[in-house]
Amino acid sequence: MPFDSGVTYRPGARFGPAHVRAGSRLLRPYHPGLDVEPFGAQQVADAGDIACNPFDIQEAIGQIQRAAEGLLADSGCLVATGGDHTIALPLLRATHQLWGPVALLHFDAHLDTWDTYFGAPYTHGTPFRRASEEGLLRKDRSVHVGTRGPLYAPTDLKEDADLGFQVIDAMTVGRDGPDAIAERIRAHVGDAPLYVSVDVDVLDPAHAPGTGTPEAGGLSSRELLAILRGLATGPRIVGVDLVEVCPAYDHAEITGIAAAHVIYELLAVLALTRTG
Ligand code: MN
Ligand code: MN
Repeated sequence: MPFDSGVTYRPGARFGPAHVRAGSRLLRPYHPGLDVEPFGAQQVADAGDIACNPFDIQEAIGQIQRAAEGLLADSGCLVATGGDHTIALPLLRATHQLWGPVALLHFDAHLDTWDTYFGAPYTHGTPFRRASEEGLLRKDRSVHVGTRGPLYAPTDLKEDADLGFQVIDAMTVGRDGPDAIAERIRAHVGDAPLYVSVDVDVLDPAHAPGTGTPEAGGLSSRELLAILRGLATGPRIVGVDLVEVCPAYDHAEITGIAAAHVIYELLAVLALTRTG
């Protein structure tokens, strides 16, 4: 989904999908940590880029939703690469049609539950407030992981809690460790269908410099991969996105390679947990 007209700071995530593809070239077929072949245990196809209008956010959201609906009808599960985080809203709308309200596991430096920016309701900082308002999410089963950095006001957290989210911030991940965090996520999500949304800025800028709104103090790529691996015994994942890879700010493919490995980890988990 090469769309980045919803960004507030550095633009360029529209080139993310091509960069993640490039970062995926060294992936190999066998995942030793989970003893699974992610591309052997299931059919995995690159469905190509979705054309979306860079001048009209509402039209682009509709185009992404329709494309996701078609791909979901054909495949039953979609792993989408962005693009900025605006794309999560149409992806969740399409997912909702198949699964009803889903638990959201949201990895991000940011809450992304703000109301508007400059009066605009559909941006990369607002998708999960809109999704919650539209009834797309299980309010009792959703959680942010890796948040950090300055906010606009204390009410940001209050309003986020009112929308139904738990918060496991980056300091808590560092203190408690990935295994305990994965266990807490599994307990909170329970048996609800799970949508996993990964904003690559959940990683520290040292591990993912190529992104639009970097914040210091983030997760290492190893911490993120370990948390995701901890989902292999857990909930049923019904949708995935990975967003905010902005190659113009990347160096030595650090971010593109990290993103490709995050998707590989999730494909391995999907291979082990997906039931039709
Ligand atoms: Mn973010
Ligand atoms: Mn985000």
